[in-house]
Amino acid sequence: MQLSVVIPLYNEATVVDALLSRTLAALDSFCPDFELIVVDDGSSDMTLPSLLAYQQADPRIRVIELSRNFGHQAAFTAGLEHARGQFIAMMDGDLQDPPEVLGAMYERLASGQCDVASGKRTERHGNKAKNGMTNIFHFLFQRLAGLRGMENAGNFCMMNRDALYALLSLDERVRYLPGLRAFIGFRQEYVEYARDARFDGTAKMSLFKLLTLATDAIFSFSRTPVRLCLTIGLVGALVFFIAGIYVLIAKGFGFAIPGWSSTLLSIYFLGSIQLVFLGVVGEYVYRIYKESQRRPHYFIRKIHELPE
Ligand code: UDP
Ligand code: MG
Repeated sequence: MQLSVVIPLYNEATVVDALLSRTLAALDSFCPDFELIVVDDGSSDMTLPSLLAYQQADPRIRVIELSRNFGHQAAFTAGLEHARGQFIAMMDGDLQDPPEVLGAMYERLASGQCDVASGKRTERHGNKAKNGMTNIFHFLFQRLAGLRGMENAGNFCMMNRDALYALLSLDERVRYLPGLRAFIGFRQEYVEYARDARFDGTAKMSLFKLLTLATDAIFSFSRTPVRLCLTIGLVGALVFFIAGIYVLIAKGFGFAIPGWSSTLLSIYFLGSIQLVFLGVVGEYVYRIYKESQRRPHYFIRKIHELPE
């Protein structure tokens, strides 16, 4: 098996037809020896039945049915763990990642030019506000995590077996795959492409899911937030130590003003800073808790496959 393409789907019934026909045509044009692993992430609409109908016509489609909705990163992980190809690709299922770009990625990998080829978005169509937030996230993430050159690269990518083993050996519970992919190193290259607007339907990554993913990414790759707390805390302590000396001296010389407003202000200030910092520390504690539970990333209800 030469190539495995992993696609997670969650309630994408209206996209299935266009997605599969376009992807199969694109793959057939450069590498007919492939498997298409579609992960049904607990869809409640007609996604699964239409996938299975398509599978009857093309047994190169394998459908992994998860036992419920585990989220996009877990669904990708499930597909990656079951991929058998020499090269393995990850692609969103709403046609925002054009399947034709897989050909360019494949060319670079098959020629041995690199180990990982990721899509780099040169332009984005679709929701302006959301794209703006995504850009801010990528800017921050890259700087906080100290991972260079991955700006504007999302999940869309193709890698060889060595890189896949490395990626899957990073078995943490809180997963942000584009970050993990940058972390493993190897020879990485970027294929530029324009990210399309979603083919149909609404985004299945709600704003809440996206924000969770963004904080997961930053907190699992960066100690800057907790560092920042420590630094601001230390500076604060120094300032208040000096202020304390001044207050004592003032008291000693008897010119202290019995002002309770300044007292209150500093209590408020310190109180709020402490709460924020507790929150940041709490983020890390939560992640330690998650890791120590060691729960599986997903459960599979059934793998649907036909003999080839
Ligand atoms: N998706 C999934 N599980 C989820 C949410 C999304 O498998 O819980 C799939 C979704 O069907 C799509 C891909 O992940 O194929 C990307 O989702 P979406 O387009 O909503 O994300 P966005 O483009 O907003 O980042
Ligand atoms: Mg999308």
